[in-house]
Amino acid sequence: MKDIFRMDSPFAMIDSKLLDALKQVKYPGFSRDIVSFGLINGATLEGSTAKVGLAVTSADPRVPAQLKQDVEQALSLLPGVEGVEVTVSVTKPNTPPPPSGGGQGKGVSGPAHQQLPGVKKIIAVASGKGGVGKSTFAVNLACAFDKLLSAQGRTKRVGLMDCDIYGPSVPMMMGMNARPEVEGNMLIPLENFGIRVMSMGFLIDESTPVVWRGPMVMKTIQQFAANVDWGEMDVLVVDLPPGTGDAQLSLVQTLPLDGAVIVTTPQSVAVSVTCRGAMMFEKVNVPLLGLAENMSYLVGPDGSHVPVFGEGGGEAAARHLETPFLGKVPLDPAIGQGSDRGIPIVVSSPDSPAGSAFLKIGQDLLEKLGAQQGGQ
Ligand code: ADP
Repeated sequence: MKDIFRMDSPFAMIDSKLLDALKQVKYPGFSRDIVSFGLINGATLEGSTAKVGLAVTSADPRVPAQLKQDVEQALSLLPGVEGVEVTVSVTKPNTPPPPSGGGQGKGVSGPAHQQLPGVKKIIAVASGKGGVGKSTFAVNLACAFDKLLSAQGRTKRVGLMDCDIYGPSVPMMMGMNARPEVEGNMLIPLENFGIRVMSMGFLIDESTPVVWRGPMVMKTIQQFAANVDWGEMDVLVVDLPPGTGDAQLSLVQTLPLDGAVIVTTPQSVAVSVTCRGAMMFEKVNVPLLGLAENMSYLVGPDGSHVPVFGEGGGEAAARHLETPFLGKVPLDPAIGQGSDRGIPIVVSSPDSPAGSAFLKIGQDLLEKLGAQQGGQ
């Protein structure tokens, strides 16, 4: 059993040696692998027979056939494997997911890039726990991307998908309180500051009990990917719900992420939780682009940095995770005030220490994303 670990509960048993080999198998026509697309239902070695279950969403019958063949080929090369049995369950796109409880996330969706054909890069902003400023970060990062891309003369859009359904604060932070229009079966994102935004906050009543929202997560996010007209877009920023549980893992699988950013605060308690968040991305083979620290220090009247919550936590966590440290965003009361007024600090005060910290991190991330697959 040493070789076998159990991923979080929606998953069957996965043999780590098989998983590594499966990471080499690309989804037909894509440069991403089938593990990161979340297609693996199970992978076990029984005697010398590797048994693999895949769940694919595709209308093209060649896709499951090709996948089966590629998986058989990749696994048959492994020492100790003499036979390979691949079971592919195929769901046609746009058929509703089975009305099961607890079966969510078993690779229910194929690569959503098919569903988001105009979106070039998708990055997630995540945190191990709530209250570290993840949504603030996602909002300001989206605004920073827009500013930076506009300065480069890019006319394409930046989007923000608020998946933090337990506390969808993005609409307030972006100064939006309308309901999105529906055209055909597509929702049209709302737009402010040049950012196209979709949020559960537009669709639910604030009085909807949080306990009802849990079962809606996967369905909502699938709809955010499949039934929202995002249009042509350079970057889509996804604000994930805080934490590292099943809901987050399912989301990370469902969306075809090009990378993830972890937000933390300097406190060590937040840092240890952060590491669990990072491991979640590793499991599904989504590259971690880096870790950023929020609420790092107060800027004193003389320009000095006062580390109210301690120092060095973010850098330590980044070192531990072997991921780049993207930078520090200071504590600034104007951020909280801006959130309440619906104007992100990157829009209202781009030259402030916090505004310029977001812009610098945004620039760094654009370069990292651009460097992937030889540029945008
Ligand atoms: P999360 O998404 O992690 O739960 P939020 O982004 O909602 O956190 O932020 C929590 C609160 O902290 C909000 O009121 C926000 O305005 C405030 N906040 C976030 N970052 C900063 C900062 N750097 N300086 C001051 N207030 C901040």
